[in-house]
Amino acid sequence: MKITWKNLLLWSLPAIIISFFVWQGFFASTSSENDNSIANSRMTYGRFLEYIDLGWVKRVDIYDNGHTAIVEAVGPELGNRIQKIRVELPASAPELLSKLKKGHVDINAHPMKNGLAFWNLIGNLIFPLLLITGLAILFRRSNNNNAGPGQAMSFGKSKALFQMKARTGIIFNDVAGIDEAKEEFEEIVTFLKEPENFTKVGAKIPKGVLLVGPPGTGKTLLAKAIAGEADVPFFSISGSEFVEMFVGVGASRVRDLFKKAKENAPCIVFIDEIDAVGRQRGTGIGGGNDEREQTLNQLLTEMDGFEGNTGIIVIAATNRADILDSALLRPGRFDRQVNVDIPDFKGRLSILEVHAKNKKIDTSVSLTIIARRTPGFSGADLANLLNEAAILTARKRKDNITLNEINEGIDRIVAGMEGTALIDSKSKRLIAYHEIGHAIVGTLLKDHENVQKVTLIPRGQAKGLTWFTPSEDQSLVSKSQIKAKIMGALGGRAAEEIVFGDAEVTTGASNDLQQVTSMARQMVTKFGMSAIGPLSLENEDSNPFLGRGMNNSSEYSDEIAIKIDQQVHNIVDDCHKNTLQIIKNNRVIIDKLVDILIEKETINGQEFRKIISQYTKIPNKV
Ligand code: ADP
Ligand code: MG
Ligand code: ZN
Repeated sequence: MKITWKNLLLWSLPAIIISFFVWQGFFASTSSENDNSIANSRMTYGRFLEYIDLGWVKRVDIYDNGHTAIVEAVGPELGNRIQKIRVELPASAPELLSKLKKGHVDINAHPMKNGLAFWNLIGNLIFPLLLITGLAILFRRSNNNNAGPGQAMSFGKSKALFQMKARTGIIFNDVAGIDEAKEEFEEIVTFLKEPENFTKVGAKIPKGVLLVGPPGTGKTLLAKAIAGEADVPFFSISGSEFVEMFVGVGASRVRDLFKKAKENAPCIVFIDEIDAVGRQRGTGIGGGNDEREQTLNQLLTEMDGFEGNTGIIVIAATNRADILDSALLRPGRFDRQVNVDIPDFKGRLSILEVHAKNKKIDTSVSLTIIARRTPGFSGADLANLLNEAAILTARKRKDNITLNEINEGIDRIVAGMEGTALIDSKSKRLIAYHEIGHAIVGTLLKDHENVQKVTLIPRGQAKGLTWFTPSEDQSLVSKSQIKAKIMGALGGRAAEEIVFGDAEVTTGASNDLQQVTSMARQMVTKFGMSAIGPLSLENEDSNPFLGRGMNNSSEYSDEIAIKIDQQVHNIVDDCHKNTLQIIKNNRVIIDKLVDILIEKETINGQEFRKIISQYTKIPNKV
């Protein structure tokens, strides 16, 4: 929290209030003390009455609105001298006055002294005034849109960033590779700029557009771009900002947000990461989350509350449309869904072009090659890649980014930081055999991707790595391709087995085996690629709130479960046998390649294939 004088005031309020009481007390006591400091002896009220009865009291001065009396008395107990004695009077003392009159005592009541009364008045007023000013400031603050987080009085107010002239500085040209989504958004800009053209023919302008796609594909970027292009006010808020630990805050934030939006129509409301509020209601372990549900309900109500043509368009982004409440997705709310996907080759190329613009890239670097090497990379990954490469270039004190830095960047993003190579040892040999095992099986199988490089330089968790050039189309994979992948993954362990014997195999293959099992299992339960037949047996993610992997709710009988296990076994066994065979048949080449690898530490794909082709025929890859 920033320390401003307002904050200081806020936190010092309790202190001020306490000191107020103390000061009040101080004044209250001094107001009578000042006068009566002479009266240093006291007596009780009861004794005072006795004194009156005895006729010892000569004079009574009453102070403090009748709370205190200074009594002048004389009597044997007092040494027959006139003494001033102080008496605290009870709040109501009905008999006192008549008694005093009867005893012919001189009574005098003293109003508070003027100066003191003034100070008392100030004392009484100044603190309430301070309090009121403080509160007023707080309320003013909470009406500002840019109140900081967690301010006591601004809980319920939306923190939507209100921008009359959007200053995101991003335009559609900064977004690349997601052309359909861009077109859709360009259309929205026309809705907002020329609504008459649409309403004229009876078309209703959509109220809500839902952007769906994996993380890093440019959803937020697209929303920022529309803010920059549409030239209308743009409110942006993140779904998680609706949900706080204070009950009711989310709902009032939604209300506030839409209130502001209506005042500023035509405008765009952007809700990022809407899944934080928009999840299916009434699910989850231990009942739903009331606060979130209220927020969502409020959102639904607000979206129904304005007509399609009022010029508010709500754009929301999520990477999990499957978990959103179905009520959000019905027409009339988010009636349009725009999918943003991981970019394909062309998309990657244009994203690279966008991000290469402000970087010094060597003329020898072809962005096409980078785009080819990076299937599966999202826009954010590609932006990150070029940035990593630029950092590496700067670290090497070079002027331009070359392919070396870019390749290094890719490796780093995919597999983690580079370590230092092992010194020659038995384990280095074993790792070399393991990697060459992967590489040779991959090379000799027609349906396997090509080897890009084999290396013994550790990276991330891996002690050695075999890189394959990923195929472009990852979305449609054939049965023989999956089987080839399984065999390739088994190649490492198979080489260990053949070369070092069953007793010497290592834990290094555990990751490979995990992949093998998962691929084989999916072949059986998901893709219908086993003797069980074309059945989908796994209902993935039926309940997203149980988390991944917790809801392997089997929708099949135990009998089928046994069959599934058998089929998975069959596939893996089958592939394992084939893999062992390939290793055995090519033992001579493998030994040779291992020697080269240990010496050079990295062999690239072309070199690798050249060596193999001296011994055996490499099938043409499809
Ligand atoms: P998300 O889809 O998760 O909201 P972002 O929009 O936040 O992803 O993207 C993060 C960053 O990645 C952007 O700031 C941008 O630099 C880069 N990026 C992602 N997609 C693209 C794209 N299609 N074109 C250009 N840059 C992109
Ligand atoms: Mg985002
Ligand atoms: Zn391996």
